[in-house]
Amino acid sequence: AAGFDPVAVRGDFPILARDIDGAPLVYLDSAATSQKPRAVIDAEVAFLAGANAAVHRGAHTLAAEATELFEDARETVAAFVGARPEQLVWTSGATAGLNLVAYALGNASIGRGGPAARRFSLAPGDEIVVTESEHHANLIPWQELAARTGALLRHIPVLDDGRLDLGVAASVIGERTRVVAFPHVSNVLGIVNPVADLVSLARAAGALTVLDACQSAPHLPLDLPTLGVDLAVFSGHKMLGPYGIGALYGRSDVLEALPPFLTGGSMITTVTLDRAEYLPPPQRFEAGTQPVSQAIALAAAVRYLGGLDMAAVHAHETALEQRMLRGLRQIPGIRLLGDADGVERVALWAFDVAGVHAHDVGQFLDARGVAVRVGHHCAQPLHRRFGITASVRASAALYNTEDEIDVFLDALSGVRPFFGADA
Ligand code: PMP
Repeated sequence: AAGFDPVAVRGDFPILARDIDGAPLVYLDSAATSQKPRAVIDAEVAFLAGANAAVHRGAHTLAAEATELFEDARETVAAFVGARPEQLVWTSGATAGLNLVAYALGNASIGRGGPAARRFSLAPGDEIVVTESEHHANLIPWQELAARTGALLRHIPVLDDGRLDLGVAASVIGERTRVVAFPHVSNVLGIVNPVADLVSLARAAGALTVLDACQSAPHLPLDLPTLGVDLAVFSGHKMLGPYGIGALYGRSDVLEALPPFLTGGSMITTVTLDRAEYLPPPQRFEAGTQPVSQAIALAAAVRYLGGLDMAAVHAHETALEQRMLRGLRQIPGIRLLGDADGVERVALWAFDVAGVHAHDVGQFLDARGVAVRVGHHCAQPLHRRFGITASVRASAALYNTEDEIDVFLDALSGVRPFFGADA
């Protein structure tokens, strides 16, 4: 794509210079975790080496510097998704963010059950809606919330071509629906879901929307307030940032009314032996010592991505995705998951190789330097829906090149002949 040079970008990622037993590394597992540019690694080290201190407390210079860096990071990451800083809650990752929401919603007694808690409490007869394509992180917390409250968990099915069945969505989402949780992009199908349609169905039903933006944040320009969702989560390590950091975004009125999940230090105003008053968001949801160096490094990741222009990143990745698709369609015995026509996608393809187990495919590719993911990718119901237990997933990011896609396709075309699978 014009204005974007993947080869220059590669130079910023030290690990991409590695080889795997003599073969150059072709890293196609960015949907599981992305690689980190030097700017991110350096930001974390620079903070730990030069400004580390506990934030929000203490009168000393280092504490003030650390607090400023930490809150600047919040502003930077919030701006990256179109939000204001007070709308961004640090979490340890997307899983933690989704659990925070599911536990807070069910926490009707916390803060002694004020009107806010009642607004969000669930009861038998209420319904929670997810999709059949969920990552387990956006499924199991809702199963458990349903079990705690007596609510019913329902789902929007996935069509044969990977799109969500919006016709069924319109009947599943109704007046009993309290929550609609769905992925912006499934980590197996790669399709950008119709957020606006789902948000309008949920709004008409008066339900809260919870968006899992793990697989879109690293790849698309993302403006969460414009998407209109009430709550959204994403994960730092999938967007060039460090492990142990992620964020929960919330509409201000929702966060202000939402009871906390974890309680303890840093989220309170006045505490007596009997009771506590809570801070407003985002601090209300940030009990305990926060992942400060990781937040600062995530801001460096976001500045790195922002400096590249996400529209140009997306255009480059779309070229990679299209090249992958053309090649995959030419290899006999490959069944793609989610190859719907005319949908917007990220550069990710999961597929089944007829007659060869996904783990064997993964090892065969690894021996040629190509790193892909194999297994159920934390989406067992989706694999079951397609009649398989495992798939192979190749996922690209901004630092991949068309040459690397060719290396992958070349290696993959040798798999079935090697294993003697029928053509
Ligand atoms: N949702 C999706 C769509 C994901 O791909 C992942 C990571 N595989 C998660 C949630 C969970 O993210 P984390 O493990 O970083 O909390």
